[in-house]
Amino acid sequence: MEDCIFCKIANGELESEKIYETENVIAFLDINPKAPGHSLVIPKKHGKTLTELEDELIAEVFRVTKEVEKLLNRSIKPDAFTVGINEGEASGQEIPHLHVNIIPRFEDDGGVPIQAVVNNSPKEEISNIASKIRKASEK
Ligand code: 5GP
Ligand code: ZN
Repeated sequence: MEDCIFCKIANGELESEKIYETENVIAFLDINPKAPGHSLVIPKKHGKTLTELEDELIAEVFRVTKEVEKLLNRSIKPDAFTVGINEGEASGQEIPHLHVNIIPRFEDDGGVPIQAVVNNSPKEEISNIASKIRKASEK
C-alpha cells in the first residue's frame, strides 16, 4: 500500500534493522524500543488487523514470532516476553499494517502485565457477555 511505512520496510524501500525473514513475513527492531530487542513481526502484504489477513499468513506471522523469541532468548536473554498487537486506532495502533510486538521483559523492568493497558471492567455479568458472543457464532 502506498504511503505505508511498513509496506516500504517490507519491500526494502525503507531501511530497518531486519533480524529474520521468511517468504511472506519479516521481523525487524522497533525504531523506538521499549526494551532491548523490542521487535516487530509483520506480514509483507498490507493488512491492518488479523481479520483482514488469510489464515495461512497469520500462521506464518506467529511461526516467525516464535522463531524471533528463540533468537532473542539466545542473544538478549530476557526473563520473559510481552507479546501483543494494537489493532485499531482506539487501541493505539498508529501504523495501519499489522505488527506483532515482541517485548523482552526483565525482572524489575518497571513494566506491567498486558491486562494493565486498559481499565474498563464491564458493568454486566460475564455470563451475559459470553452468551452474546456465543450467539454471534450462530449467524
Ligand atoms: P503502533 O502504535 O502502530 O502499534 O506501533 C507502531 C510501532 O512502530 C511503534 O512502536 C514505533 O516505534 C514503530 N515504528 C514507527 N515507525 C517506524 C520505522 O520507520 N521503523 C521501525 N523500525 N519502527 C517504526
Ligand atoms: Zn502496509
